[in-house]
Amino acid sequence: MMGQRASLMRADGVRVDIDGRTIVDGVRLSVAAGEMAGLIGPNGAGKTTLLRVLAGVQPAAHGDVRVGDAPLLALRARERARRLAYVPQDTTLDFDFTAHDVVLMGRHPHVGRFEPLRPADYEVARTMLAEAGATRLAGQLVTTLSGGERQLVHLAKALAHEPDVLLLDEPVAALDLRHQLQVLGLLRRQATRGLAVVAVLHDLEHAARFCDRLFLLDGGRLVAAGTPREVLTEKTLADVYGVRAVVDDDVATGALRVTALDVMSGPQADARPDRA
Ligand code: ADP
Ligand code: MG
Repeated sequence: MMGQRASLMRADGVRVDIDGRTIVDGVRLSVAAGEMAGLIGPNGAGKTTLLRVLAGVQPAAHGDVRVGDAPLLALRARERARRLAYVPQDTTLDFDFTAHDVVLMGRHPHVGRFEPLRPADYEVARTMLAEAGATRLAGQLVTTLSGGERQLVHLAKALAHEPDVLLLDEPVAALDLRHQLQVLGLLRRQATRGLAVVAVLHDLEHAARFCDRLFLLDGGRLVAAGTPREVLTEKTLADVYGVRAVVDDDVATGALRVTALDVMSGPQADARPDRA
């Protein structure tokens, strides 16, 4: 183990069955401190379900999930919230909280049950709103935010946990181009500072450019894991996404460029029984 960074999040043999159907099947993965991992795969591959298991909000039929050395489910809720923050895809809140209130909620795992928030907690909340590029939203009611604005606020809340592990489900899906780059850059920097980040991403070029490692899910199974160059091959895109694509180097970004040419017909594409 010498020279290897500690694995902060580890899953082994994770299986989820819903209504008699296996949605996630025998997934094993680990993410180290300082690493940003991308969870990719077609619609319905099981990405959200797997992420929910890693976050401890979805029970698994089988398998073991650990944060550091501790089994996830053995951690008390407060301890779990200090170690791990999860940003679901749908962050709708029905209460009349301001964005600032929501981000401050991220501090609660760090203060005693009957203790007031400290000035330092307000400072962290302010900093994280700024990091997410959402300072101007601080006083606005979250019920009035756009989907993208809400995503930024919930990202700031997750950062305010100051967790070891940050789990995000399509964190840039509702964002404009500028905010996409801003958020992905922010996640990258958080990882570089020592967090373990796991983000579900649809944009494969984003995944290639910002992630150290990719986990590719298909039909609930982990079908590839490795560096973006190992995972994002033309063969993989054909086999898993049913798309004929060219993968080459993007001179401008220094990362991979994925050009989808067309949808393949035949057994690799539409005829897959597990593809709804
Ligand atoms: P992804 O995030 O990769 O698009 P999901 O994890 O959301 O995939 O879903 C994987 C599969 O599991 C899909 O076919 C979805 O319809 C099914 N599924 C997820 N949650 C439920 C549920 N609560 N009830 C029934 N089917 C579900
Ligand atoms: Mg999903």
